[in-house]
Amino acid sequence: MWQSAVRWNENDCLMQPSDDIVYLKGVGPSRAKVLAAELDIHTAADLLQHFPFRHIDRSSMTTINTLSEESGYVALQGTVSNMSVISTGRFRERLTVDFSDNTGVLQLVWFQGTKWVREKLKPGVKYTIMGKPSFYNGTWQITHPELEVANSADIELKYLPVYNTTEKMKRVGLGTRAMARLTETLCGCITPLDENLPPDVVDQFHLLSHHQAMIAIHYPQSQQQLESARLRLKFEELFFLQLDHQYSHLYRNQAAAGYVFRSVGDCFNRFYKEKIPFPLTGAQKRVIREIREDMRSGRQMNRLLQGDVGSGKTLVALMSMLLAPDNGYQACLMAPTEILATQHYQTFCRMLDGLPVKVELLIGSVKASEKKKIKQRIANGETHLLIGTHALLEDDVVFQRLGLVVIDEQHRFGVEQRAKLWAKGHPHILVMTATPIPRTLAMTIYGDLDCSIIDELPPGRQPVKTVHRTEPGRPLVFHFLKQEIDAGRQVYFVYPLIHESEKMDLKDLEDGLEMIQSYFPRPQYQTSMVHGQLTAEEKASEMQRFKEGKTHIMVATTVIEVGVDVPNATVMVIENAERFGLSQLHQLRGRVGRGGKQSYCILMTKDQLSSTSRERIRTMCSTTDGFKIAEADLKLRGPGDMQGLQQSGMLELKIASIVDDEPLVGATRDSVRRLLDSDPSLSNYPILQRHLEQSKNKFLWSKIS
Ligand code: ADP
Ligand code: MG
Repeated sequence: MWQSAVRWNENDCLMQPSDDIVYLKGVGPSRAKVLAAELDIHTAADLLQHFPFRHIDRSSMTTINTLSEESGYVALQGTVSNMSVISTGRFRERLTVDFSDNTGVLQLVWFQGTKWVREKLKPGVKYTIMGKPSFYNGTWQITHPELEVANSADIELKYLPVYNTTEKMKRVGLGTRAMARLTETLCGCITPLDENLPPDVVDQFHLLSHHQAMIAIHYPQSQQQLESARLRLKFEELFFLQLDHQYSHLYRNQAAAGYVFRSVGDCFNRFYKEKIPFPLTGAQKRVIREIREDMRSGRQMNRLLQGDVGSGKTLVALMSMLLAPDNGYQACLMAPTEILATQHYQTFCRMLDGLPVKVELLIGSVKASEKKKIKQRIANGETHLLIGTHALLEDDVVFQRLGLVVIDEQHRFGVEQRAKLWAKGHPHILVMTATPIPRTLAMTIYGDLDCSIIDELPPGRQPVKTVHRTEPGRPLVFHFLKQEIDAGRQVYFVYPLIHESEKMDLKDLEDGLEMIQSYFPRPQYQTSMVHGQLTAEEKASEMQRFKEGKTHIMVATTVIEVGVDVPNATVMVIENAERFGLSQLHQLRGRVGRGGKQSYCILMTKDQLSSTSRERIRTMCSTTDGFKIAEADLKLRGPGDMQGLQQSGMLELKIASIVDDEPLVGATRDSVRRLLDSDPSLSNYPILQRHLEQSKNKFLWSKIS
């Protein structure tokens, strides 16, 4: 029988899930404001959805003599002494306090809120502290620990939840312990939460009820109950993800009408016969065929095109877009940066020169008066193909007859942006990405899209040779670069964004530039520099000089990461390579190896590397296969950490991980499939209909209006 760890408390008044959090005992207006601003928590339900990231088992407090690098987040009990304050600058200080239990001493450190801590801490009082210890200068330290007087009232609970909090929350007294007090009160007074899965599914998989799981995820009675709660909530999350995807897929296949691009006309044919600069690869042909079939099927296309960097997606985009004017429609291409949009525009103009196709570029830095004219030409149908950045999303960009939208480097955009473009005329949609995602994951993340893959590079490409070098190797690296440049090639230097302030990053870049220029003196060697502080025009002109071969060396921040195409560049030097993630390194490396010549990627790092950095560098040196790199990346980033994906809006999972919970992904997929097979309209499942009703907005773009 399921029992709750939290006692029901008649004295705390009942709360409904939809009640404003301000009414929860212990919250009040100022804390409610901070909860809303920091964690988007507005209602009781929102607070329950703020899951703890771990629990502390109170029956097993740690002692100082047993701490190790692997300890992670721990709880200790002891007393404080020897408070000392060091000034570290104007208005800034560092507070350290010795903390001892019967087995040893460690140091507590604060950089912020020191005044408050100083007033609060009393020698002789027994405290429970929680935090993550690190070994530093010969002693264990915990920076900004959670702290409370030991033996306070709530000690009965065996498992204490630990929550993510922010500095702003701590300032209004909402540390992880205070958050726990709030969730405890709430769990003790919330009205029973409605079940949101069909009863037969709950039975079949022996799941806890929604209510039980939502309470036990905060306050489990046992480790086992916690596991059951996590399982139930992961299941639920993945189940709804699958339901959204499969339902929208089914619905679209059945009912969503798309414009019919019946003919392959003059634009496409003349381009193919007269203009195409090289024969298409087999994969490009296959993918273009898939796209053509979609667009004449009568259904609206929603297709994802995956292809490693350099696989030739742009040409596929261009040829697909030519089918629009051939059938009396317009098409547009959205890219994430102005550099990239401009580059696409130039490519299109060059390749389409002499054909009756009007191409235009719309980016933020275009002059207002010019923009107005461009928008007029878009509205009256003069413009056939439009290329641009986010500027395309603006409301006053109105197409006469938009038939196809292509989104380049999809991982930089969210679902809403796709939806916004779609709303401009319900066009076919093609999204392209070079962020390789393992196939099984792609199905989960992009379950609502059909998927095409370019799994073949243009002929004559040699894999980029990748090596790892440290500072002592720099003279040889520079010597090698000189040889390449003297042989007529070009090279990139890329610097990571390290500091929070752009100014400091720029300083790194400028220092780097100075070092490079002292080895490659002007006028013999010319250098371009691109970074985030430049205006779009400055960036474009620097890029252009490099593209035209007027400069030999491009020194840049990661602005250069996405899609830039200069086939004559053969060397990519990545400075502080240990600071980059794997897929980012792979993207950067993709900037070279685009022509027929042997290309190189040189990863410069400091001497000492953490084990994961070492593994990343090793992976880069051993393979150029984007899918292998994606797999390694997911493994290295560790359980649950899919940040890159989640931030990009591709996937918003609170608790499940599509990597670690693959069996659950499969189980929910099958479960939803069986359900939709037997009851496509879900008429027997009002619960699920309600869910779809609520998530409709999110997926509206893929349906017919
Ligand atoms: P990505 O898929 O990374 O966007 P691009 O479309 O920029 O790649 O293409 C990379 C390079 O390969 C470009 O210089 C392009 O002109 C060239 N390319 C594309 N298709 C072919 C092909 N079939 N044969 C030879 N070169 C090609
Ligand atoms: Mg590209």
